[in-house]
Amino acid sequence: MCGIVGYVGEKQAAPLIIEALKKLEYRGYDSSGISVLNSEGIFTAKKKGRIQELESMLDYSKIEGTLGIAHTRWATHGIPDEINAHPHLDCSGKIAIVHNGIIENYASLKEVLISEGHRIVSQTDSEIIAHLIEKFQKQGNPLEHSVKKALSLVEGTFGLAVLGTDKFGGPRIIAAKKGASLIIGIGNNEIILASDATAIINHTRKVIYLNDDEVAVLSKDGCFITKINGERVKNQIQEIKWSLEEIEKKNFKHFMLKEIMEQPEAVQNALRGRINGAVPKLSLKIDVNKTKRIILTACGTSWHSALIGKYLIEKIAQIPVEADYASEFRYRDPLISETDLVMAISQSGETADTLAALRQAKSKNAQTAGIVNVVGSTIAREVDSGIFLHAGPEIGVASTKAFTTQVVALALFALFLRHEKGIKDSPELMRELSMIPSKIKEFLTSAEGQIGGIAKEFYSSKNFLYLGRGVNFPVALEGALKLKEISYIHAEGYPAAEMKHGPIALVDDEMPVVFVATQSASTFDKITSNMQEIKARGGRIITITDEENSSIKSLSNFLVLVPKTIEELSPIINVLPLQLLAYKIADLKGLSIDKPRNLAKSVTVE
Ligand code: GLU
Repeated sequence: MCGIVGYVGEKQAAPLIIEALKKLEYRGYDSSGISVLNSEGIFTAKKKGRIQELESMLDYSKIEGTLGIAHTRWATHGIPDEINAHPHLDCSGKIAIVHNGIIENYASLKEVLISEGHRIVSQTDSEIIAHLIEKFQKQGNPLEHSVKKALSLVEGTFGLAVLGTDKFGGPRIIAAKKGASLIIGIGNNEIILASDATAIINHTRKVIYLNDDEVAVLSKDGCFITKINGERVKNQIQEIKWSLEEIEKKNFKHFMLKEIMEQPEAVQNALRGRINGAVPKLSLKIDVNKTKRIILTACGTSWHSALIGKYLIEKIAQIPVEADYASEFRYRDPLISETDLVMAISQSGETADTLAALRQAKSKNAQTAGIVNVVGSTIAREVDSGIFLHAGPEIGVASTKAFTTQVVALALFALFLRHEKGIKDSPELMRELSMIPSKIKEFLTSAEGQIGGIAKEFYSSKNFLYLGRGVNFPVALEGALKLKEISYIHAEGYPAAEMKHGPIALVDDEMPVVFVATQSASTFDKITSNMQEIKARGGRIITITDEENSSIKSLSNFLVLVPKTIEELSPIINVLPLQLLAYKIADLKGLSIDKPRNLAKSVTVE
C-alpha cells in the first residue's frame, strides 16, 4: 500500500500536492517524492523517510507548474531509498509515474526493456511502467494509448498516475486502476487525484471512484474516462459525506477492525506473483541439502506463526523444525551450526530480541532467512534472503493481518522447501492456498453480527480459556493473546488435551471456553471428548468449527461456522473469529483498541 496524489488546475501544484500527500501518510511512510511539469520539462525530488523530510528540502518558489504527481511509499520491491522512491522516470525524463501495487511480471518485462536499451535505475517493480510507456510513445502513439498498451502487458495490481505531455493534447496526467483504489476529485477548474478521499476533501467533495481497468485522462480540458480496452464509460460524480478520520479508517471505528477486514486483500498480496502451478515462486538463497534443521525465532504473535510454521514445514517438507522465543534463544547459548537455517519472523523487522537472535545465529555461521513486513527494516537487511509479507502498514498495536500473512508466507516456504528437497509437489495445497483470500472474505462479510452477540454475552467475564490441537493449538494461543492485549481480560491458550493437567480445575459456569475444533483436523474426535469434559463441569463453550453436526451443536453454547479448508491452512481461517471476538469485547468495554495500555507496536527494547 502507498499513497498517490495528482493535481491538474490553475494553482501551483507542488505545495498543494505535498499537503494532500501528508493526509495519506498512514498508507506508507518509508520514502516520498514529487514531480511537477512545466514548459521546461519535469522537475522531480525524492527523499527517504517521512514526507516532512521531502518537504523541508523543497523550495516552492523554484518549483513552478500547475500539474504534478506525488507518492508516499510502502516498499514492496527494493529497499526504501531515494532511487527506489517514486516518481520513476523514463530514459528521456519526459514521463514520470507513481504506482501503488505490485507488478508480478516485472522481472521478465525488465529484461526485455534492458535488452532494448532502456536504462532502468531502481530495484522496484514500478519503474518498468515508465519505460514501457516511453517505448510505445516513441512508436508514435498518443500518451493515453501508450499507457493502455503498457498496462495490457503488466500482470498484477496498480493505482497509477502518469505525468507527461501528449504531442497533440498537451500536458496531462493519465490515471489508471486495477485492484488498488484511486479517486478523482472534481473541483472548480481543477482536478485532484488521490488514493483515497482524505487527500481530496479539503478541495472538493465531488468525486469519481475509478473502477478496475479504467483509465482517466486529466487535463485542462477536464476528465475523460475509458476502459483499458478502449470502451467508453460513464462514471457518476458522487458526493463524499464522511469526515477526515472516517475516511482514514475507511469508515471503520478502529484501525484494528479495518486491518481485520482487509485480510482478504492482504493475503492476496502475500500470494501475488508467488503461485506458479504447484511450485511457489520465492527468491530464497537457501542450500536445502545442507539444511539439517530449521529454527524459527520470533516474539509475540509472530512466535505463534512460528509454531504453526513448525507444523507446516515438518509435515510438508519433512525437515525438523524448532520454534523458539527469540528472547530465550539468544540468552541460552544455543547449539547452532552451519547445517542450521535460522529464520527470523517479525512484522516490523526491528524487534530487538529477534534481531539479536538473528545476529547470534549469524555469528555461529548458520544460514539465515526472514519473514518480515517492512521492506528495508534491519532484519530484512541482515538476513541472507527472505519473504516479505506485502501486507501494507499495520497500525493497530494488536497484530492481525501480519499474523495471517505470516502463516501464508510459512506455507509458501514449506512448499518451496518440499520442492527443493525433491519431494513430489503438492498442487492441492497450492490450489487451496490460492482460494484462501476468498474464504477469508466469505467469513468476514457475514461474521460481525454473530461475533458481536457472543461478545455481549461474555464481555464482563474475568477469565477465558482457549483450546485447540495440532496446528490449531497456536491459534488458541493467538486468540488468548488478542483478548489479553486489547480487552485486559485474563486468557490462557492451551493444547486441548493438556487442559486435563491443570486448567480444568478453573472451569465453572463463569468460565467461557473457546474451542478451535475444525472438522478437517485429524484430532477432531478427540477434541469433542475434551468439549464433553468442559460441559460436564458447567463450562460455557464457544466453538469455532467448519461443520455443523449435531454432537458439536449440543455441546456448544455458541457455534461459529467458518469456511472449510485443509487442516494445514485452517489456522488462517480459524483465527478470524478470535480476532473479531477480542475486538468486539474490547469495543464493548470502551477501551483504547488501537493503542492498548502498556504496549507498543514494535518492541525495539530488550
Ligand atoms: N511496488 C511498488 C514499490 O515497491 C509500490 C509499493 C506500494 O504500493 O506500496 O515501490
